Amino acid sequence: MSSSNPSSSNLSSPLSAEQILEIDRQHVWHPYSSFLNPTPVFPVQRAEGVYLHLSDGRKLVDGMSSWWCQLHGYNHPRLNQAIQEQLEQMAHVMFGGLTHEPGVTLAKRLVELTPEGLNKVFLADSGSVSVEVSLKMAMQFWQSQGRPDKHRFLALRRGYHGDTFGAMSVCDPVTGMHQLFSHTLAQQLFAPQPECGIDEPWDERHIADFEALLVTHKDELAAVILEPIVQGAGGMRFYSPDYLRRVRELCDEHDVLLIADEIATGFGRTGKLFACEHASISPDILCLGKGLTGGYMTLAATLCNDKVSDGICQGEAGVFMHGPTFMGNPLACSVANASIDLLLDSDWQGQVGRIEAQLKEELGACRDLPAVADVRVLGAIGVVELHEPVDMAKVQPRFVEEGIWVRPFGKLVYIMPPFVSTPEELRQLTKGIYNVVAELN
Ligand SMILES: *Cc1c(COP(=O)(O)O)cnc(C)c1O
Repeated sequence: MSSSNPSSSNLSSPLSAEQILEIDRQHVWHPYSSFLNPTPVFPVQRAEGVYLHLSDGRKLVDGMSSWWCQLHGYNHPRLNQAIQEQLEQMAHVMFGGLTHEPGVTLAKRLVELTPEGLNKVFLADSGSVSVEVSLKMAMQFWQSQGRPDKHRFLALRRGYHGDTFGAMSVCDPVTGMHQLFSHTLAQQLFAPQPECGIDEPWDERHIADFEALLVTHKDELAAVILEPIVQGAGGMRFYSPDYLRRVRELCDEHDVLLIADEIATGFGRTGKLFACEHASISPDILCLGKGLTGGYMTLAATLCNDKVSDGICQGEAGVFMHGPTFMGNPLACSVANASIDLLLDSDWQGQVGRIEAQLKEELGACRDLPAVADVRVLGAIGVVELHEPVDMAKVQPRFVEEGIWVRPFGKLVYIMPPFVSTPEELRQLTKGIYNVVAELN
């Protein structure tokens, strides 16, 4: 819009909160939202540290890290600087036939930090796309081995892998939010959700159903796909590293690839840099996203080992058949590099350990409330599971009144605060959750 055009001058002035909400109500889709039965949304003016500043002047302690992404706090000088410096060089160039320093530095970094053997990096735009890429890699690998019948996937019930069609096909077929599309989705196989808790003693019976499915279908299976240790949006459940270890062994034994979706768990969230480390395993393919840029920009990566990359490149196509327009975006790569530097320079393990101890203690108090079915904590993830799904229209404004940003999902009230949260900030989160959950039932 031109500032010399007087008729448009009112558009260049900031909108009031009421105007924002009015336009929002009329035109803007939010995640999993309805225009006919809208739930409240809150205009945010800025964010700083662990605080979201609403346009009405209230400030909220962020318990969600903008859906797992935020590690170091909002408006961080080092992350801002990384983007600003990169902006002066170039915001974006195509990645076909061109390469650049932020992209290769990030790839090298990811290869060094992730579990052993993951040597090749495909940069993509979002978590769901990185899952699509992982599925495609596995299918193209078997195609190139002359085994095109190996094109299906074995996933876990209660899993969540994203909202695009390939990713939807491997989400829990019932709780995965995608039943509506089931008749158009590729028909995959599902093993029961892992039942052995994170600290429970291992028993081979815990893997029996999974093993039976794998053995029966190994000739049509390209890969197993799972979220290691923490099942996120499909149920916020934590399971035994022994389960993951056995899955890796069984995949090797029966010639099936293993895809680990660490989009939520990557970059320290569970107390290890990557959740696969709890079981000391390497997947054949690894998906990263969310925390990759410290919450600044959308970016994801799919890593694979040389077996997978060699297989794909020796195949009939000779190339990997994928290439997003915004692949390797330099701004996103530069802020990812700065975020990884910040993380490794910090005492993130100490921070996550302190968050874990405090959440165990303070969220644990919710166990005595009548509405609560279970409380569980792992790393910087705290979950209060209720008996009944919450009424979002009622509880969301209550959390805001408590000065905290918590966004429940069904029966799950959960937080994964930024690693830099102080004990006082965490205390405000846990106290607010207690107060709101105490009012239920
Ligand atoms: C969020 C998430 C995805 C999807 O990522 P988007 O960036 O939302 O597309 C996939 N897998 C897991 C485990 C996730 O938590």
